[in-house]
Amino acid sequence: MICPFCQHSNSRVLESRSAEESASIRRRRECLKCVRRFTTYERIEFVPLTVIKRSGRRDPFDRSKVLRGVTIAVEKSTVTANQVEILVDDVEAELQQKAGREVTSTEIGEMVLKRLKVLNEVAYVRFASVYRKFTGIADFVEELQQFNPTELDRRKLEELLRS
Ligand SMILES: [Zn+2]
Repeated sequence: MICPFCQHSNSRVLESRSAEESASIRRRRECLKCVRRFTTYERIEFVPLTVIKRSGRRDPFDRSKVLRGVTIAVEKSTVTANQVEILVDDVEAELQQKAGREVTSTEIGEMVLKRLKVLNEVAYVRFASVYRKFTGIADFVEELQQFNPTELDRRKLEELLRS
């Protein structure tokens, strides 16, 4: 995205909001060179994607399903709705860059997890528990051990384990 003030080609996204009915995304950006801010409305050229589920069933890719899954995972956490939008945008952009038109539901889950891990540990575990379908508490604990325990909000974790 070219800066309208200095024509620099790199900017960072400050805010992202999808306008579902028009299939466009409004983004508030800040130029990395002159630091001035501008708004873009990006129309996405969607390549239809097919999602292959574990059962082998094929369904058209549905952004709102990913959005809903992530929203549930971040419930009562510090992650904002806007951060969720940016995360889902990012996953969708990665999917659109894939060579094939088919993607497995597991691949989508892993793409989300990769991003949630950076954003919020509890949300990551919640999402992982759904997408990877833990077979028992041992799996769950194994997943948790990947975190630095000092960075974990103990109270949130206990809450999670109870739910
Ligand atoms: Zn600029």
